[in-house]
This record gives sequence, structure tokens and C-alpha cells, in this order.
Amino acid sequence: MTSYLLTGGRVVDPVSGTDAVADVSIADGKISSVGGKSGAADDTIDCAGLVIIPGLVDMHTHLREPGREDEETIASGSAAAAAGGFTAICAMPNTDPVADSASVVEMVWAAGREAGLVEVVPAGALSKGLEGKEMSDIGEMARSMATVKLFTDDGKGVQDALFVRRTMEYLMAFDGIYAEHCEDAALAEGGQMHEGDRSMSLGLRGIPAEAEELMAARDIALARLTGCRLHLLHISTAGTVELVRRAKADGIAVTAEATPHHFSLTDAVLETYDPNAKVNPPLRTETDRQAIIKGLADGTIDSIATDHAPHADHEKDQEISYAPPGLIGLETALALTLTNLVEPGHLTLAQAVERLSVAPARILGLDGQGGPIEAGAAANLCVFDPEAAWTVDPNALESKSNNTPFAGQTLKGKVVHTFFRGRRTAAAGIVQSEVFV
Ligand SMILES: [Zn+2]
Ligand SMILES: [Zn+2]
Repeated sequence: MTSYLLTGGRVVDPVSGTDAVADVSIADGKISSVGGKSGAADDTIDCAGLVIIPGLVDMHTHLREPGREDEETIASGSAAAAAGGFTAICAMPNTDPVADSASVVEMVWAAGREAGLVEVVPAGALSKGLEGKEMSDIGEMARSMATVKLFTDDGKGVQDALFVRRTMEYLMAFDGIYAEHCEDAALAEGGQMHEGDRSMSLGLRGIPAEAEELMAARDIALARLTGCRLHLLHISTAGTVELVRRAKADGIAVTAEATPHHFSLTDAVLETYDPNAKVNPPLRTETDRQAIIKGLADGTIDSIATDHAPHADHEKDQEISYAPPGLIGLETALALTLTNLVEPGHLTLAQAVERLSVAPARILGLDGQGGPIEAGAAANLCVFDPEAAWTVDPNALESKSNNTPFAGQTLKGKVVHTFFRGRRTAAAGIVQSEVFV
């Protein structure tokens, strides 16, 4: 196994509180030294001007395998993740077949290991077939080789409050996390974008903020009742941020994530009727976007998650009301965070790293992910150039799909190297296929 010496980089590690220029050496899958004396290495990499942080952890990735391998596979999604600086991704269960049994989550887990570019952490469905009626094989998935921790029917919200209560009670036996895509189906029915002045003027049916907030409030109440850990996926409204803030103040075991597109964009981008800006939950107003940013800054929102949702061109390139919701995000997440949160001074770089790596690793209970960067720790690292400006070109991305509303935008901050368990999975932004063998 190649050993590495990274010289002259700025190490930013919120876990150990480090923010200093230091040489980092890597051998046998682990960090062998930080600062201090470093011995000879097979490969010395000049990291002057670059920043070294713990590898990013995405709590919310759609890999589309099994079922839609034309849109993404576990291998291509892993490559997109490595290119984006990630060393762990949580695979959402709304595949075909649905990951609602031990056999499917074990298949995803094994394919992730085979790709070998990131840790693929399968999430399990809460209900069989995502139908919200009959509980999935939660116990079997939790006890399987995939050791599933996070359970969700993501793609839709669970509509039946009694099902939520019973599932939360059952999950507690496995220290499982109940993760919700908060969306009241009746209120959101047929919606194409956020309901407000813009949806009125564009003549598109809207999804009100209340479709999310009602379910978030219900789930918080049921988490209080049962004591189960609750994670709210992709929260998008000022009202939901406030609900989470109050729930945390009340000591309820709730965590929340927000996506780069919800802190970067508003419903104003729908004025071009760009189907790539159609996403669920929808892009909201500037007031909501500011509330998301404030929630990320004060820690109300624990993590930044991509909700990477690949879609085939022939499905996305049609009239907005026919296009499926979702956009790809693994390869733009870090740059959007740096450009829209760190550069304007909303979050410090250490806070951004906390939200992108430390917190999601902690919530998912992943050993060796999310830092610290110190001798003896697993060598899961992201090295980026904070000054590099680049223009998003969907065709140049590793993801099999191209659906991003950020195409043509210039962002600041680019991943240069990714190390996963001591192997270099991306170098100069190019995924290293030799790690496959
Ligand atoms: Zn969702
Ligand atoms: Zn999702």
C-alpha cells in the first residue's frame, strides 16, 4: 500500500480543534503523523496553499442501484462522491426493489465495498415497498452485515401517525434513527414548486411550507412521546428550522440536515422553468434560505447533506410538470458550501467542516469518519484548494446523470485529493480507478 506525505497543507479539524499548517503522513490506511517528524514516504504531495480536512460524509445520497443503473450505479455514485471529497455516503432505500429487507441492504453494502472508493452506508426503508403501511424487516436489516442504523421512506413522507409511533417504538430496540422526508401528501399533491407569489405568477401549482412543517411538528411530538431518535431530512422552511430549534431546547432527540441547493437558491430560479431546479422539497423564498443559513450557523441544523438525486436526461429534459424532482449534488456540495456559506462569513471553515463531516459521522455512528486528523486515526481525508475557481460542467462530472441547476456557474473551492482508508481515490480531481483492483 502506497504511503504518502502531504507537506505544507493547512489542517482544519474541528474534532481536535486544529487549524494549523502541518505535514500529514499516511501509511497502512492510517494517519501516521501530523506535524512533528515525518519519515520517508512512497509519494510526497506538495499541499502548500491547500486545506486538509476530514473526508466529507453525506447522510443522503440516491445511488439508484438496484433498478435504475442507467441513472447511477453504486460504483458511479461512489466515484462522484470521491471526486467531491466524500469518504462515506448513506444510500437511500427508494430503489427498485426497495431496500426494505436484509438481502437488498446487504447487496448495496457489498457493492459499495467492491467499488472501494467510499464507505457506502445503506439506509433501510421504514415500510415495505415504501407504502407506509406494513413495517419493513427493520430488525433483520439492523442485524445484517450492513448494520443499518438509519431508516426512512425518503421520496415520500409517512402519512399515518400511528405507523410512525409504532415504528419509532420498534426502532428504539436497535438504537435506530427514524428519518423523515417531511411532506403531507394531500397538501403537496400535484405541486411543482414552492407555493407563493412566484408560483402564482408562473402559473405552477405550489407546495406550501405547511406541507413540510405539519409533518415535522407531528414527528417531533412523536419523538417526544416515544424517545426515539428523529432525523429530519432536507429541511427547507423557516418554520421547520424554528420547530427544530424549539425541540432541541426541549431536549427532544432530534437532528436535521439541509442541502446546498436550499441554502444556495430560491424559487426565483424557477422563472426560467428549468426542470433541473425542480426538487422536493422545493426551493423556497429568500426568507427561508436565510433561516436555513442561520440554522446551519447556530447548529440548529446539524448537517449539510446533498440529497444527490440523479435522473436520466430524457426524463429531466421535458416540461417542468412532467420532469421528476431532484438534482445531483455530490460534486458541488463542498464548493457551494465554501462559496455561499464560508466566503460571505455565515460559517467559519471549521463550522462548515463540522456540518459536512463531523456531525453526519457522529449521527450515523461511523467509526473512522469525521475526524479527528491525528496519528492513529483512519486516513479518510479531503484536500481542497480554497482559491480555485471552476465552472460547473455537468458533462465533466463523474455522476452518470447531468441534472444540476448549477451548470455554468463559477464556484470557488475545488477538491484536489481524496483519501479513503489511506488510498488516494481522487487526485487532481480525477478519480483513481486503480484503487478498484
Ligand atoms: Zn426526500
Ligand atoms: Zn432524498
